[in-house]
This record gives sequence, structure tokens and C-alpha cells, in this order.
Amino acid sequence: MTPVMVAIDGPAGSGKSSVSKAVARRLGYAYLDTGAAYRALAWHARHAGADLDSAESVAASLGSFDYAVGTDPDDFWVRVDGVDVTEAIRDPAVSAIVSTVARVPAVREHLNALFRSIAAATDRPGIVIEGRDITTVTVPDAPVRILLTASEEVRAARRAGELSGAAAAQAGVAIARRDAADSQVADFLTAAAGVVTVDSTALDFVHTVDAVLAVIRSVVA
Ligand code: C5P
Repeated sequence: MTPVMVAIDGPAGSGKSSVSKAVARRLGYAYLDTGAAYRALAWHARHAGADLDSAESVAASLGSFDYAVGTDPDDFWVRVDGVDVTEAIRDPAVSAIVSTVARVPAVREHLNALFRSIAAATDRPGIVIEGRDITTVTVPDAPVRILLTASEEVRAARRAGELSGAAAAQAGVAIARRDAADSQVADFLTAAAGVVTVDSTALDFVHTVDAVLAVIRSVVA
């Protein structure tokens, strides 16, 4: 049976990853974090000594990019060349360069093809795929397409978490900078035709998960 595709886009700090994971868990679906692949490629390109200012050099690093990712929402891992980089790809140094890598067209084509093949190969009844251009480019024919948003202030506050004063302000600046760079490549701040917006600004985590589940259940019986 063809797995049900649930596409979820949204900006940094919208709660996409944790909400998508929780939704997948509730439905017994697989979970695919596409940002992890862009981060892993940025990590790899840096270690391979690629010139990040050169699209050709970044694209060339795809040739040696040996990537594997877990799709079990209860056991998430990311490996490059067999090395576990699950934590390493969250490093601010990677966040700072990932947009540069992600704007290379050859990178997007390569990774989108990879995402489609991972999604098609799942042995679960469905898969929640989250990122920036999933509803519009990766799987535009998905039966469920959602844009998860939240105000910039709320997103910065969630990302900053327990950080205090200056560090929290820095986190906000870093998010705004990455969103600005990313939005030159994909418009993930406005919903495309047929995409349902879930605004989590005034919702806590549990209610956001419920809102996304309600959208899915309205489409998938
Ligand atoms: O979702 P996350 O913050 O981990 O994504 C990291 C980066 O990967 C984004 O800032 C963006 O540059 C890139 N990305 C993308 N398209 C996607 C998912 C992520 O360009 N579908």
C-alpha cells in the first residue's frame, strides 16, 4: 500500500520537528526531518574542505555524501559516513552555514529525490515529512499539506528556551537571519494554494499537536 504523505513546512522555531515527531508517533507513521539532511551536508562539506562560497564546490561534495537517517519518531539518528552526527549537526556553527549550502539548486534536487525515495520506502502506513518546501516542491501532491507558523517573538522565545538575557537575544537574531536567507529559496511564511495554516502562536505544544492531528483526520479517514 502507498504510504499516506503528510507534508509540514514552517520557519525555524515554529515547533515543526517536535510537533511532527509527536504526530507521527500518535498515528504510527514514520517521521522524516529534511532539515537534518541539509545540516548533515553542511557538516560534511565543511569537513571535506569545500569552498562554501562556491556552488560548484558545494555541489561536488554531494559525490562523497554518504547519508543515512532514522525515520522512527522514537529513535532519531543521523549518520554521515557511518559516523553518528545527530548532535553535531545542531551545533550553531552548522546552523550558521546551512542556508548557504541549501540554496545550491543541485543540492536541493539531490536531496528532494532522496526524500521521495525514503518516503516511498517506509513500511509504516504513512510518513510525516517536515521542512521548508515539502508542501510545494518535495511532495506537492501529498493529501495533507500544512504550514506551521508562529509569531517571530514566540519562535525566538521557544528556541532560546532556558537561555538568559544576551544569549536569548542572540538566538533570536540568529533565527531571523536564517529565516531571511532561507526565504529567498522557499516561501515558507505564506501558505501555497491548498495548504492549511496552523498558527501555534497562542497554542501550547499539546494543542498544536491536536490541531495538526485534526487537519490530518479531516483528510485521512
Ligand atoms: O529544520 P532545520 O532548522 O533543521 O533546517 C535547517 C536548514 O536546512 C534550514 O535553515 C534551511 O536552510 C534548510 N532546509 C531547506 N529545506 C528544507 C529543510 C531545511 O532548505 N526542506
